[in-house]
Amino acid sequence: MIIVRDIETLQEAKKELGGTVGFVPTMGALHHGHLSLIRQAREENDHLIVSIFVNPTQFLEGEDLDSYPRKEEADRKICELAGVDVLFMPTIDEMYEHDELCIGAPAVRGYILEGEKRPGHFDGMLQVVMKLLNLSAATRAYFGKKDAQQLALITQMVKNYFMDVQIVPCEIVRDENGLALSSRNVYLESDEKRRALCLSRALKRATKMVMAGELSVKSIKKEMFEVLDEADKIEYVAIVNREFKALEEVEIGNTIILVAAWVGKPRLIDNLWI
Ligand code: AMP
Repeated sequence: MIIVRDIETLQEAKKELGGTVGFVPTMGALHHGHLSLIRQAREENDHLIVSIFVNPTQFLEGEDLDSYPRKEEADRKICELAGVDVLFMPTIDEMYEHDELCIGAPAVRGYILEGEKRPGHFDGMLQVVMKLLNLSAATRAYFGKKDAQQLALITQMVKNYFMDVQIVPCEIVRDENGLALSSRNVYLESDEKRRALCLSRALKRATKMVMAGELSVKSIKKEMFEVLDEADKIEYVAIVNREFKALEEVEIGNTIILVAAWVGKPRLIDNLWI
């Protein structure tokens, strides 16, 4: 595995990579969620590029940019063992210049749910993903369903800008209790870790209701709010179709149920695709 910190060296390294290239962009502090994307990309491509970059433009004022977990040494080992060919860890200066041309999230889908609670987040996310996809020139790029709205917007960006890359959605990885893995879970104190389980429990409750034939969004949300009682603050519970349009009734095979809530220090998100 080679470690690359500047764009020139990345372009040089890419010349050696014939065949298909898989790409997994991350912000590091790697866990088994990231690893499942890396493994899938490793299996499906001749070569594999992983990036670790804590992108400042997707953090809002007052968010955890400075304290975001950074574990470079451990991440490097994980990537090495997972068979990564190129680990790209650029500096901020390498990625950005002053007075940049920016792309923006779409006016509707980009400004509901996460986009409403974190205005500007998706603009920064799309900006860096566009750069990273162009730099990697990957055949396939892998993204987790955990960040469902992010995945939808990246898929839309690739379509709208006619980008030549296949976006591969990957399943959510959870711990043994059902908590969706996230780099920010390290912020959870022990009692908070227990309370954080209410997010996945609420989604399980929704599954049970749907399996029992209850399709009414209003009824499902009502029960989910009850289960989410253990969170410190619920930001939203939403039931939308795969296009992120609000639904009144669950459509089997075309629905995503999303939840965002604060438990202790971290703001947690989780979702379920039905
Ligand atoms: P991050 O480092 O949090 O920006 O995440 C990098 C990629 O890993 C994104 O595509 C995420 O959706 C994905 N990811 C993060 N957590 C999980 C998880 N628990 N299961 C599956 N994918 C995940």
